[in-house]
Amino acid sequence: MQIKRLRLSGFKSFVDAADLRIEPGLTGIVGPNGCGKSNLLEALRWTMGETSARSLRGAGMQDVIFAGTATRPAREFAEVSMLIEDAAATEIEIVRRIERGAGSAYRIDGRDVRAKDVALLFADAATGAHSPALVSQGRISAVISAKPTERRAMLEEAAGIAGLHVRRKDAEQK
Ligand code: ATP
Ligand code: MG
Repeated sequence: MQIKRLRLSGFKSFVDAADLRIEPGLTGIVGPNGCGKSNLLEALRWTMGETSARSLRGAGMQDVIFAGTATRPAREFAEVSMLIEDAAATEIEIVRRIERGAGSAYRIDGRDVRAKDVALLFADAATGAHSPALVSQGRISAVISAKPTERRAMLEEAAGIAGLHVRRKDAEQK
């Protein structure tokens, strides 16, 4: 699976619409402190279904919406669109949107879907909001100081077993 494009609007510091094409190979994001590098990675995780505001460095999920600056008013919504290409070379667009005072809404290829559908889309891939491929700032020290059970969960994710747990839970509810 490959991420081909990321479009952000009103997400954290990305108040103006940003459109990033991600070419195959290595992509580097460079810039001064506070320019939004970590916000970009958080936008990826958020779109893939992250439910923990704290892991997005916010107190509540609404904190991902542009909060305004001295010169610009706050925004009323945040939206991120992620275009991926799956193993069969099919393009899939995932959109997550949050409005002030309302929860998150998800779309896959323009259709309204549940958060669970997005989680299942990524369940088998080494991607998703908790992908071991996304290592946020400070996470390395968290791995080192983790309790054995926490470290086991991290290893399960890295081994791709976590997706099976999602599917098992889904099956048990049916
Ligand atoms: P560093 O090099 O220090 O790691 P960085 O490039 O990773 O920096 P980020 O942490 O992505 O920077 O961006 C931080 C900036 O995003 C801060 O200026 C912060 O005020 C801004 N920011 C975060 N959330 C919001 C929000 N909801 N509204 C407006 N700005 C926000
Ligand atoms: Mg950073």
